Amino acid sequence: CGIIGFAGRDQAAPILLDGLERMEYRGYDSAGIAVRSETRGLQVRKAKGRLKVLAELTHGGKDLEGTLGIGHTRWATHGEPNDINAHPHVSENGQIALVHNGIIENYLEIKEHLLRQGVTFVSDTDSEVVAQLLEFHYHECGNMLEAVGRVLRRIEGSYALGIICSDYPNALIAARKDSPLILGFGENGNYIASDVTAIIKHTRDVVYMDDGEIAVVTPQAIDVFDDEMSPVEKKHSQVDWDI
Ligand code: GLU
Repeated sequence: CGIIGFAGRDQAAPILLDGLERMEYRGYDSAGIAVRSETRGLQVRKAKGRLKVLAELTHGGKDLEGTLGIGHTRWATHGEPNDINAHPHVSENGQIALVHNGIIENYLEIKEHLLRQGVTFVSDTDSEVVAQLLEFHYHECGNMLEAVGRVLRRIEGSYALGIICSDYPNALIAARKDSPLILGFGENGNYIASDVTAIIKHTRDVVYMDDGEIAVVTPQAIDVFDDEMSPVEKKHSQVDWDI
């Protein structure tokens, strides 16, 4: 399983598909990508099975337009492997797309709470709960970073998260706890990935996220915050090995 994300100047979909392919060795049962563009908004494609299926479905990514996106390979823990349970998961109003690696231990309790508020769920995953809770808090506070902070204080378990929101055309948000996630600084834009192998062909300048940290990734910069939303100065590493 693995996560990749890109905010930059090139088309995102082919970069995401290529990155996911390089993480295939980690194992997965389904895959998906979400890309955002000004004209087409959020476009999500996902499918059970090999990455080849997703690549064919999107004509190698050519069907999707946009320079901001997230991708995911899933190793199902909650909900059978099928197209609907594949990531990205989209919030009820279609504004937020999210990929997740890990397990949300208290998802049932949160899901029941949201169901009582009238939220409709489409998948059986623990991950969709994070997307829906995020929309709930975003609606409440109007600020995506603040909403992510509120969600992270509520969920228990392990996660690497990649999030895009149609209100934020140039930014993706990443967060991690007990699941790997790295940040990559490239010429053509910036990256998130579970694994250096996914992005090494684009950059060797990386930062390892620590537990509890949140990153805002734009084409120009990556800002990292701790769990109290204070900015964190991160040490860069140079990847000096080849794949
Ligand atoms: N728990 C999530 C699911 O079953 C994520 C699994 C993963 O890490 O790929 O959808």
